[in-house]
This record gives sequence, C-alpha cells and structure tokens, in this order.
Amino acid sequence: MSKKGLFINYEMCFGCHSCEMACSQEHKLPAGEFGIKLTQYGPHKNVKGDWEYTFVPVPTQLCDLCGSRTATGKLPACVHHCESECMEYGDIAELAKLLEEQPKSVLFSL
Ligand code: SF4
Ligand code: SF4
Repeated sequence: MSKKGLFINYEMCFGCHSCEMACSQEHKLPAGEFGIKLTQYGPHKNVKGDWEYTFVPVPTQLCDLCGSRTATGKLPACVHHCESECMEYGDIAELAKLLEEQPKSVLFSL
C-alpha cells in the first residue's frame, strides 16, 4: 500500500483554527494538546518593505493521519473541516507533485 500524507497549501490558509479544533475533537485531546497547530508570522513589514502575514498549520507528533477515519473511507477531520480547502489527503507521491504548482506548502507523512 502506498504511503499516505497531508498536503497543506498554507498560502490559502486564513488562520481560522478549524483544523486544530476538528483534530482535537476527533481525538478527544485535552486542552493545550494538538495534532495540528496553527503558527503565525506577522503582520510584519520586512526589510524589503513588503508586508508578511502568514499562517502555517503544522502537524505534530500526535497526528496519526486519522487512521481510524481513513480506514472507513472518510477524510481526515482537519481536511474535512478546512473551509478554505487548502488541505489534501492522499498518496504522498501524488501530493509531492502538487508542490510544483503550489510551492508554499507543507507536505507531511508518518
Ligand atoms: S490528519 Fe487527523 S490526526 Fe492528523 S492533524 Fe489532521 S485531524 Fe489531526
Ligand atoms: S482549517 Fe484550513 S484555513 Fe483554517 S487554519 Fe486550518 S488550514 Fe488554515
């Protein structure tokens, strides 16, 4: 079976935290524990004079790629609840191809 992973085009992420909450609810995580954690850079004006305001969701060591959901044909909870549809789940080799078109992305696997 091919290796699975998560692809997150963080350029499309608007920082809503839905992925964090969906993961915590799905895995019944206690407060302060995360399977995916939203990080934020900015708002910041860099030395070139450009404004940066970037959100990057980072899967943690608690992420199990929602094995119990995907085993029944469901999408991972975070992917299912991402309103900007910037997250994808699938074969890691296929997801890696997306990097060519969407280079500002996170690619995660176990
Ligand atoms: S794939 Fe599942 S376990 Fe991993 S971050 Fe998403 S919701 Fe959490
Ligand atoms: S649910 Fe989607 S848009 Fe919202 S913070 Fe997570 S990755 Fe970003």
